[in-house]
Amino acid sequence: MLSLEPEPYGNSQLGVPLHVWRPRSDCELLLFAGIHGEEPETTIALSRALRHLSEPPQHCAVVLAANPDGLTRGTRGNANGVDLNRNFPSDNWQANPVTHRSTLDDPSDVRLSPGTHPGSEAETQALIRLIDELEPDVVIALHAPLACIDESIESPLGARLAERTGMPHVRDVGYPTPGSFGSWGAENGVSVITYEFPMATLDEHVRDQVPVLVDLVTGAEL
Ligand SMILES: [Zn+2]
Repeated sequence: MLSLEPEPYGNSQLGVPLHVWRPRSDCELLLFAGIHGEEPETTIALSRALRHLSEPPQHCAVVLAANPDGLTRGTRGNANGVDLNRNFPSDNWQANPVTHRSTLDDPSDVRLSPGTHPGSEAETQALIRLIDELEPDVVIALHAPLACIDESIESPLGARLAERTGMPHVRDVGYPTPGSFGSWGAENGVSVITYEFPMATLDEHVRDQVPVLVDLVTGAEL
């Protein structure tokens, strides 16, 4: 059981501390979960992986809850109703409401705000500051339930992750994502891999995804 306490890297809109578990030395990988508050399986799985460790990771920083207000409210967006993954200050950010499907079988008709302007939200700003400070070689963002490994430029790590998880390695998720974290990363020289869990039970995520996450956090060969 990991005893080291995380450190705050900012506060959410509602004043909840945003926490990062820092690596012991230089940061090669940042793994974050829960930027969409209705994807708590990502937070739970990453927490399980972190608690497998007996000491802090050597080269991996971990954020369990990039959107704690959304996680506590069970909403995709933050406390302002903003989809943080459409709020990043990328060239393709747009002011129109963003839509998403409440389940994969539903029409894309749930409307969320992308924010009043690019990077308007406290959680977005704090994550950018954290990445500027840590300068990770790669950032892996956990999402659900599209069952793919998504990156704009294929990398060896992305390919290994796709092979290990048995999920398709794709260049996009099949629809536009203006203002997404991935779009911002591509424009700012930050390598981003989006690791989309499949639709599954929590027990299945613990069985199938947690061992992969443990290897990522510890830097083991995938
Ligand atoms: Zn998501």
